[in-house]
Amino acid sequence: MVQADWMSIPDLMACKRLLCIQPHPDDNEIGAGGTIARLVKLGCTVTFLTVTDGGIGSRDPLVPPDALAAIRRAEIREAARILGVAGTLEFGYPDAAFLPEKELCQKIVGVIRDIKPDFVMTVDPWLPYETHPDHRAVGMAAAAACFMTVFPHFPSWGGVLPAPAWEVQGIALYHTAYPNTFINVDEAWDIKLAAIRASASQCDRSWWEDFEGYLDRKSRSLAEGKGYARVEAFKVLKRSHLHINVDAINM
Ligand SMILES: [Zn+2]
Repeated sequence: MVQADWMSIPDLMACKRLLCIQPHPDDNEIGAGGTIARLVKLGCTVTFLTVTDGGIGSRDPLVPPDALAAIRRAEIREAARILGVAGTLEFGYPDAAFLPEKELCQKIVGVIRDIKPDFVMTVDPWLPYETHPDHRAVGMAAAAACFMTVFPHFPSWGGVLPAPAWEVQGIALYHTAYPNTFINVDEAWDIKLAAIRASASQCDRSWWEDFEGYLDRKSRSLAEGKGYARVEAFKVLKRSHLHINVDAINM
């Protein structure tokens, strides 16, 4: 018999300080914009950390990556403003350059120890068939950072992390195939869409309308039977669920 506390899922909506780590500009708002807007209204202080510059996010061969990265940097700020995000950080790695996961984990630990978030939110690196190397690397590095940051002597290979160890209450993974937390975003849906559309460089894709329709249908189907019109879905876990826990997939 497993103890209830060991198995319990932390309450995302009780979060007062949230660090949202996105591989690219626009991932946070697509995956969690409604929840982020709701948390801000509840008094939560939200920080965005964007790992790559999004420079190759265009199929137009005439769009130089440096120019697109500059546009997307401004789009991050506009999306953050719309959602009420307090601060934005950027690591500035090149888009789709196959990130150095160890270095990335160390840098995220530094940010966690500095900001001291209750929750870290990011993409689910265990999404089956997720092919984008940035999504797999960022999700895994962020989860590893949540796990490792309690150890004062991490990183074991050295490096300067002067802030003391810190334990997050939970990690909330969006774009997940194994959701255990469903957040009512009825009141925040328009804000989410406005934040997504702030990334105008991405919204002129031919498939954009299809994708927005998909987001709408998915949010509605996930809400069925829950008493809301739309929800955003997350896999929420505690740090202790992130290691040798054979039940975590079913929690
Ligand atoms: Zn992305």
